[in-house]
Amino acid sequence: MGETMDIANPSEEHAMLREMVRDWTKEHVEPQALEHDRDEAFNLPLLRSMGELGLLGISADEKYGGAGLDATACAIVHEELSASDPGFALAYLAHSMLFVNNLSFNGSEEQKARILPHVCSGEWIGAMAMSEPDAGTDVLGLSTTAVQQEDGNWLLNGRKMWITNGCLDDNGTPADVVWVYAKTGVDERGRVQMSTFLVEAGMQGYSVGQKIMDKTGMRASNTAELVFEDCIVPNANLVGSPGESLLHMMANLEIERLTLAAMALGISRRALEDMNRYATERTAFKSQIRDFGQIQRYIGESWAKYRSMRAYIYDTAQHMTLGKPGHRLDSDGVKLFAATAAKEIADAAMQVMGGYGYVGEYHVERLWRDSKLLEIGGGTIESHHKNITRDLSKDPEAINR
Ligand SMILES: Cc1cc2nc3c(=O)[nH]c(=O)nc-3n(C[C@H](O)[C@H](O)[C@H](O)COP(=O)(O)OP(=O)(O)OC[C@H]3O[C@@H](n4cnc5c(N)ncnc54)[C@H](O)[C@@H]3O)c2cc1C
Repeated sequence: MGETMDIANPSEEHAMLREMVRDWTKEHVEPQALEHDRDEAFNLPLLRSMGELGLLGISADEKYGGAGLDATACAIVHEELSASDPGFALAYLAHSMLFVNNLSFNGSEEQKARILPHVCSGEWIGAMAMSEPDAGTDVLGLSTTAVQQEDGNWLLNGRKMWITNGCLDDNGTPADVVWVYAKTGVDERGRVQMSTFLVEAGMQGYSVGQKIMDKTGMRASNTAELVFEDCIVPNANLVGSPGESLLHMMANLEIERLTLAAMALGISRRALEDMNRYATERTAFKSQIRDFGQIQRYIGESWAKYRSMRAYIYDTAQHMTLGKPGHRLDSDGVKLFAATAAKEIADAAMQVMGGYGYVGEYHVERLWRDSKLLEIGGGTIESHHKNITRDLSKDPEAINR
């Protein structure tokens, strides 16, 4: 038998990537996290600066300025950022996974050559717009429409809701480029036909409706409503052929869910570290509080959940080939488990830390608020229940493989 493998760092390159991102996060992300959460402010310069590290196009082809790395590398970066600042990690996810990765695997060579260098360097910030005010889980219930004009251009009309990076500041500056899903008709069986468009800042009719304020958590990321009012999009910015959006969406949702689960892992690791340290430092009734059975239950259960999600996340990552769908059972499963476990671990940390756990300076109250989003964004936990149950009915042998 050779050396045992660390599932979270399966190669030397992965371990080096983790070390690099961990050091960078400690130096640049950690010190600004509390303030940006309190101010509901997105740290745009910090996100842009990740371009120099090669992280903004982590999964994109090197010939377009990307790093060409795999799903495990994507998970590592999200875990590390999230251990300090989940809100900032979410902005990174929206850019690098929801926009850059999507374009890398679904765009044409011409679109990739034209747009990827700008988003990999951080000159442009990207977003992905699927959700609408009246349609979230029910994706095919969307009402944003795109109609092709005689000159070949498309006319987009509709509103998108909850778009991370949709606005870049508090003055209504829209994302530089957005991956937008719109309805382009119905097929011969009456099913909604959905198509994908690349909408760029400056295109007529594209604007920010509002920056959504007062979020429970993830306050260091901007969330916006986007408005498309007779927005003119050239045919060159249609991705693939009309009606192909479901294919784009299905493949990209898998890495989105894996990296959201990796964010849950970062939250869990940090919450566990903080509660473990505190349980030694704090005394009550002349004992360290870690000697109390009820505190031991919080720490013990958190450890077991943390280790379980870590193994499931990196096992799923190792089996995932970017751009190729086919891992929905586990990308749904891992997000379902990790999101709720992270929320429970952050809650346990707050309980162990008593009154101190309840205030911002001690970090875990922010993790506690941020963790809740993971049960909603990128698919609600109920949508994971539904998908897993449907997939297991189609493929019951998955249980025995
Ligand atoms: C901070 C934040 C950032 C986000 N970022 C983005 C982004 O960048 N891009 C983007 O496109 N979207 C984004 N979203 C939107 C997010 O993906 C949606 O909120 C999510 O998909 C749920 O949709 P909804 O809010 O419309 O809720 P709904 O779909 O209306 O769901 C409401 C409730 O009904 C349940 N429900 C719905 N259908 C079923 C069913 N068939 N069976 C059982 N229960 C069901 C849901 O699980 C939920 O509990 C973001 C959301 C937030 C809060």
